Amino acid sequence: MSKIAIFPGSFDPFTKGHEDVVLRGLKIFDELIIGIGLNSKKQRYFEKELISEKIAEAFSSHSQVQVKIFKGLTAEFAKENNANFILRGLRNTTDFEFENTISQINRDLWEGLETVFLITSPEYASISSTVIREIHKFDRNVDKYLPYKL
Ligand code: ADP
Repeated sequence: MSKIAIFPGSFDPFTKGHEDVVLRGLKIFDELIIGIGLNSKKQRYFEKELISEKIAEAFSSHSQVQVKIFKGLTAEFAKENNANFILRGLRNTTDFEFENTISQINRDLWEGLETVFLITSPEYASISSTVIREIHKFDRNVDKYLPYKL
């Protein structure tokens, strides 16, 4: 049976840290679906359609990678895509505290849904979407943090 994973996130924007998680995830999974999750409470900074296009462009040579936009529960999105795995990245203890709770809940929502965590590569550990948005707001170039040009 082929191993399908979803990699859900806000990806506002999708960074080189995220790219690294996907490329490493491809060594584990046969298919990876990057899911841009829409959170009704969070206003996006970068348009979801733009980011979706850019991610697709960045992985155009990887036929095992797809990009989708989804609303609602991550567990439902996984189920709809026949994915038994959720892929997430871990940078620090703050990420861990959050991920710990969420992964338990997701397994509760859909038995057998396992979350697989990849510890960030040191060179990308300090890259966060929040900081990139901040730099971008002040008109500074953020290209070096992204796997595509905005
Ligand atoms: P969310 O809002 O769902 O946390 P993000 O887009 O911020 O979505 O992140 C998606 C996933 O990528 C999370 O698991 C997060 O911990 C991970 N991640 C974010 N930045 C990095 C990075 N620089 N290195 C490794 N993982 C990262």
